Amino acid sequence: MDFLLNEEQRAWQIKARKFADEEIRPLSVKRDAISAPRETFDWEIIKKGSKLGFRTAAVPKAWGGDGIDFVTQAIIMAELAKADSAISKTFSQCWKWSHLIADFCSDNQKQRFLVPFMQDDTYLLGSASTEPNAGSDKRMLVDSDPKSGWRLKAEKHGDEWILNGEKTFIANGPIAKLFFVNTRSNPNVSMKEGTTVFLVPSNTPGFRVGKVFNKLGWRFYQNAELIFEDARVPDTNVVGKANEGFKLRGGSFSDFELAANAVGVCDDATTSATRFARTEKRHGIVLAEQQVVQLQLNEMHMLTEALRSFVMRVAAETDGKSDGKTPAANVLAMNFATDVIQRVSELSMDVHGRAGATMHAHTDKLVRDSMIWTHLAGDSVQRMKAVEKLKAAVK
Ligand SMILES: Cc1cc2nc3c(=O)[nH]c(=O)nc-3n(C[C@H](O)[C@H](O)[C@H](O)COP(=O)(O)OP(=O)(O)OC[C@H]3O[C@@H](n4cnc5c(N)ncnc54)[C@H](O)[C@@H]3O)c2cc1C
Repeated sequence: MDFLLNEEQRAWQIKARKFADEEIRPLSVKRDAISAPRETFDWEIIKKGSKLGFRTAAVPKAWGGDGIDFVTQAIIMAELAKADSAISKTFSQCWKWSHLIADFCSDNQKQRFLVPFMQDDTYLLGSASTEPNAGSDKRMLVDSDPKSGWRLKAEKHGDEWILNGEKTFIANGPIAKLFFVNTRSNPNVSMKEGTTVFLVPSNTPGFRVGKVFNKLGWRFYQNAELIFEDARVPDTNVVGKANEGFKLRGGSFSDFELAANAVGVCDDATTSATRFARTEKRHGIVLAEQQVVQLQLNEMHMLTEALRSFVMRVAAETDGKSDGKTPAANVLAMNFATDVIQRVSELSMDVHGRAGATMHAHTDKLVRDSMIWTHLAGDSVQRMKAVEKLKAAVK
């Protein structure tokens, strides 16, 4: 497999690296240190990144985007995450859902939502599945019991649907202008047969944002409750067909996205620990001359390079697939990314000594950010998904 970047990919990498170094890094720890979760966000960095194309990079060329491939997406995510993984994720969250608009929405919906998304630097996207009593259900359908899964109710009245219920922990919740919302349009059958997905603009009557969660990591990236009280959504906002919302889940690249983002955090942790070890003297010699510290730096470096190779392989394989679906190894890459990012950031904290145990001194942020992977990429359900794929592959 050839991992050499072509000219276009290299150009994106250089642009992302410059933006990360000059614009993101100077504000990363400052934003992390803000205690009120609603205040951590910064529109200026989003506008600047948007003007450079990072918000809309994945939109097909036919709709005015750059239509970048998955290898390029992985490269940009890693470069931006080197300076701040939560800011990187805020941009890539838009790629994920703009893919959905491009792949599954009608031309009329593209005109109404993709065109304004392209024109407005502050137009962010979100997708809402999780509810107070429905989390992992969407990741692994353990049964066909109508009682499991999301309950947000969608009822058709003439040309409109009335939505009632609540979503929780939704990324970009307080700031997105448009959400994909998974609803239960038929409560008497399983979630698989009774889900309808709607495009819901944030100014929809009856829709409001509730609490913003105070997360230990990824503090810039906002997660919130979304509340629907007789929210009225036109029938023309149904994505695909009513009750067939589960069919839309095939093309998601979310697993690979987390693995690519982790590469950037690992690069940052390894560089920072190496720099510290080369400059700090203990026992009269620089730390980097101590054999144990050398072994720690070696492990960080080795794991980071292994993750990078895995991510690039998955990205290249995804680009090579005609159905747009991510390859089976994708889930494993996400599991592996969890183990690697947590080990590498912990080693960095160790090398940094007391500086690693200080709040908002950068090293602690990487450790706290890495803990988010447990919930998104490395919990027991995500591990079970990989085993299910293995079982299916072994005859
Ligand atoms: C940073 C962040 C961003 C998020 N963004 C979004 C978003 O944009 N949109 C959205 O809809 N949601 C979002 N979520 C929510 C996320 O999808 C859920 O947290 C996830 O689906 C798990 O659900 P839960 O938290 O309810 O955990 P639970 O489902 O309650 O699971 C708790 C634990 O039990 C385990 N478990 C559950 N069921 C089983 C089982 N059958 N077998 C074995 N173990 C099991 C899980 O693996 C986990 O370890 C986000 C979460 C985070 C942390």
